[in-house]
Amino acid sequence: MAHVLVTGGAGYIGSHACKVLAGAGYVPVTYDSLVTGWRDAVKFGPFEQGDLMDRARLDEVFAAYRPVAVMHFAALSQVGEAMTEPGRYWSNNVTGSLNLIQAAVDAGCSDFVFSSTCATYGEHDNVVLDENTPQLPLNAYGASKRAIEDMLRDFEAAHGLRHVIFRYFNVAGADPEGEVGEFHRPETHLIPLILDAIDGKRDALTIHGTDYDTPDGTCIRDYVHVMDLVDAHVLGLKWLESGKPSRAFNLGTGTGFSVREVLDHAGVVTNRPVPMREGPRRAGDATKLVSGSVRALTELGWRPARSDMASMIADAWRWHQNGAYQS
Ligand code: UDP
Repeated sequence: MAHVLVTGGAGYIGSHACKVLAGAGYVPVTYDSLVTGWRDAVKFGPFEQGDLMDRARLDEVFAAYRPVAVMHFAALSQVGEAMTEPGRYWSNNVTGSLNLIQAAVDAGCSDFVFSSTCATYGEHDNVVLDENTPQLPLNAYGASKRAIEDMLRDFEAAHGLRHVIFRYFNVAGADPEGEVGEFHRPETHLIPLILDAIDGKRDALTIHGTDYDTPDGTCIRDYVHVMDLVDAHVLGLKWLESGKPSRAFNLGTGTGFSVREVLDHAGVVTNRPVPMREGPRRAGDATKLVSGSVRALTELGWRPARSDMASMIADAWRWHQNGAYQS
């Protein structure tokens, strides 16, 4: 069976990707430092502990498994942290990815699926965010991902490394079968924080900013279910396997939810009151990030099946109540 090297396979999105890769007949080889990932989340293939900064370790793993493709999820991904510690984002995300991309080229692995972000677009008032929107990131997280996209284009031109870039909007939900889920320490993402607040595991949810230029004053995001998101990655892999050209795809549903709307949905789905308070804006946040693209639907044949807000919160809530990693 064909091996796929999954960096960040012990993290939230990477672990779900390993599950669908295994289901699609691949062997997902997780490469993860476990700095933010969880050993318990590696359930669907071999585990190789390693850091992207360790080129010798990467070479060893490429030589051992001879993967047909790389899926690159490992990254620092918190907007707030990127504002205060940009150096870590440039070093870990950009230099780490450079090591990985060079190692893939040197090992003769020519298919690369990259986890990028809508944060590469930045703030665009009343402009539809599609794949041709200028990428003007507001923070070092988005900037680091844009730099890696540029790197991939250069490596394709020079070395023939073919790539599919996925620009995620906001990823939510969990494996409905409960094998893997979202478990960040510390947690900074909206939906798990809301569920923690509902459950009394933490204080009230603080709304970061109520004076944005949106109908209810809070930021608007486009949420996509993690299972739908990783399904797109398998389609991306098959796209490359069938010899199609390198391509970037937005992964969002095109429907925006404000922070207040997400809070309302969470109250309805869990049937519990949601403790909340209003706070100041969080530095680096764009007002509205909603995908305006159907490229993934029309070209990849992607069919998101669970990305309605109620299913995303219900799946996250089930995981929140029953699932956790110990190590
Ligand atoms: N958010 C919030 N309170 C929180 C965490 C997040 O109001 O405790 C808001 C955040 O400002 C953004 C949205 O929820 O508008 C989604 O944030 P998240 O960190 O989940 O994802 P991001 O959009 O930063 O990738």
